[in-house]
Amino acid sequence: MEHISHFKDSGFKVNDIQLFHGLAPQEISAIQRTLDSCQIVSVQAGEIVIDSNSSGACLYVILEGTLAQASNVAKRQLESASIQYFAGECVGEISVLNEETSVATIAAVSESKLLLIDAACMWKMIDESNGVARNLLRLLSFRIRATNAQLRNRQKVGEFYRQLSMVDGLTGLHNRSWLNTQLPGLIEHAHATQTELSIIMVDLDHFKKFNDLHGHIAGDEALQAAAKVINNGLRPSDFAARYGGEEMLIILPNTSRESALAVAERLCERIRNAIIFPDKEKSLPHITASLGLASLRADQDGLSLIACADAALYRAKERGRDQVAL
Ligand code: GH3
Ligand code: MG
Ligand code: MG
Repeated sequence: MEHISHFKDSGFKVNDIQLFHGLAPQEISAIQRTLDSCQIVSVQAGEIVIDSNSSGACLYVILEGTLAQASNVAKRQLESASIQYFAGECVGEISVLNEETSVATIAAVSESKLLLIDAACMWKMIDESNGVARNLLRLLSFRIRATNAQLRNRQKVGEFYRQLSMVDGLTGLHNRSWLNTQLPGLIEHAHATQTELSIIMVDLDHFKKFNDLHGHIAGDEALQAAAKVINNGLRPSDFAARYGGEEMLIILPNTSRESALAVAERLCERIRNAIIFPDKEKSLPHITASLGLASLRADQDGLSLIACADAALYRAKERGRDQVAL
């Protein structure tokens, strides 16, 4: 940042600056007098104007050139930065008012000329001119709105990725980390409200052999088909998650053992009858699944409930697969 002159000798006019638009003539001459001694500096492209850690807050008015908010000051990124500031605009107004360091880093996109207004000077102008105070209030409310919009946007993006991180990429069912975060709450709720809750562990039968015979891609198709059958066969209040490789866990809140058994029987039959098309021409052999059912007891937590469903699944396998066991 190189000092080049004072405002008085620079040839720039008070009217070139947005912050001083719409002022009465006597206000303009007062502002002109205050600004006359303010410094003008020149910054090179890529040079940092406001560092998020630096103290000594100043308001910077852009007389020539362009600045941008930057998390990374690489010039290429600055040029595509979404928040840019152009001639006539200013930056640093919040820091100059509350004398705190800036939270943003601002750098020059191109070679720029900046007018530096320190805190004392800024407050003097506010005292001298209602117009300056009004313009500053307008600018601050604009900044607050822009910041809020940015925050909302970030929240949405964050939520999008959070959701994405909770979904299994292959089957579209919830994934294990979703299950780990949600199951304890569902169980706690069932205990607190003394409502029934049942779970069904589903495991595809002889799936290793299916992969060996038809290949892993066909295996993936089969897994997707089973997940689709499960998803389509549940109520909106039920949940299905991919528990592990070819194991899926279904959670049925508000569901008795008898109702859950009916759901499990129906899913078992639908998986058995599902047609899997690896391509448009010919379908693959049918798959079957074994299902283990468990209903929540008053003394149970999630882990012990899953262990019960696992034990039931083991019994279904033992009894010949393609069936439901309790
Ligand atoms: P069982 O009837 O006793 O369950 O026999 P199984 O062969 O299904 O059981 P095992 O646990 O021995 O094998 C599971 C197989 O599931 C092995 C693994 O290759 C396959 N598998 C797990 N995840 C995937 C997947 O995402 N895609 C494919 N294609 N196969 C998978
Ligand atoms: Mg398995
Ligand atoms: Mg299996």
